[in-house]
Amino acid sequence: MSKRDYYEILEVSRSSTPEEIKKAYRQQALRYHPDKNPDNKAAEEKFKEAAEAYEVLSDPEKRKRYDQFGHAGVGNNSQGFGGFGGGMTMEDIFSHFGDIFGGGGGGFEDPFGSMFGGGGRRGKTVNRGSNLRVKVKLTLEEVAHGVEKKIKVNKYVKCNTCKGTGAKGGSSYQTCSTCHGSGHVTRVTSTFLGQMQTTSACPHCGGEGQIITDKCPDCAGNGIIKGEEVISIKIPAGVAEGMQLSVNGKGNAAARGGVAGDLFVQIEEIEHPLLQRDGDNLHYAHYITISDAALGTSAEVPTIDGKVKIKIEPGTQSGKVLRLKGKGLPNVNQWEGQGDLLITIHVWIPKTLSKEEKALLEKLGKAPNFQPNPSSRDKNIFSRMKDYFE
Ligand SMILES: [Zn+2]
Ligand SMILES: [Zn+2]
Repeated sequence: MSKRDYYEILEVSRSSTPEEIKKAYRQQALRYHPDKNPDNKAAEEKFKEAAEAYEVLSDPEKRKRYDQFGHAGVGNNSQGFGGFGGGMTMEDIFSHFGDIFGGGGGGFEDPFGSMFGGGGRRGKTVNRGSNLRVKVKLTLEEVAHGVEKKIKVNKYVKCNTCKGTGAKGGSSYQTCSTCHGSGHVTRVTSTFLGQMQTTSACPHCGGEGQIITDKCPDCAGNGIIKGEEVISIKIPAGVAEGMQLSVNGKGNAAARGGVAGDLFVQIEEIEHPLLQRDGDNLHYAHYITISDAALGTSAEVPTIDGKVKIKIEPGTQSGKVLRLKGKGLPNVNQWEGQGDLLITIHVWIPKTLSKEEKALLEKLGKAPNFQPNPSSRDKNIFSRMKDYFE
């Protein structure tokens, strides 16, 4: 099951503004709305797909993560970032229409009000746990191959004594007498336009529909207690310092059986002793002697996957860059390929010399082939830079 690109689904460019995205979603939602396409499974799928795309692209933080990581970054890949799982429910989708199609309340100015049934939830208030943030340090090897990390997170977890209900023994509560368990109260008022109906959360039970008569002593009626959970997080290859992954539903548990928050995992890199990272490319500085530079040699250089042998041609100048294609890091967006390993050759010039060494060098320095005679290519530092960037 491969997911389509969200921008493609909404038929917008990657640089489109929030307004453009909203407009595009509006069009798609109208086109594929179930009321317009009764018993049309394909339309329903498209309708859901568009809603999911909008859910991500309309949220600046989610959009940023999606741009960086693709589907993995917004918690809906198949590797267990949770996410939408089986897709959004129709109720989730309709709950968005309030802000998409304006109105939301009275509905007089909302051309879609009747079509979409007003919008706004009529159900019980659902508590939501807060989000959590953790940092995870990765070695360059882990970045290169991706890794599954088990992280112990201190967080609010469900109280086992009351099974998360907050009620002593798990059953010491009763249905709210004000709202009869529905969680909302409806008021009908007469206005000169006719009768108007407003629905709001029940003030007596706070919208939960039930009242605890005897609080659980362990959690003081909250249904959650401080605890910890070991969470396993699959980190895709190619992530970089500062990137953030989200794991849906692994944040703090919510009071009295609500929806848990999300866990945000911030990536930190541990510096590699030899290789330096520059985007997807890696850099390595390799030092050779004056004689190896002149005579040529072979050398072993480190890569992420162990050492490889490179050949150094006779007459190699200091500053030459050798490129090992594909020996860098994979891009976090797999379709963007793999970086290279760039090896910069430095000819080591001794800083102290013995009497004997000095005499040898003085003799060599006068030899005809030791007189600098750079070709235009050697002289042109920019041609070397070009080498490097090509
Ligand atoms: Zn409890
Ligand atoms: Zn109530």
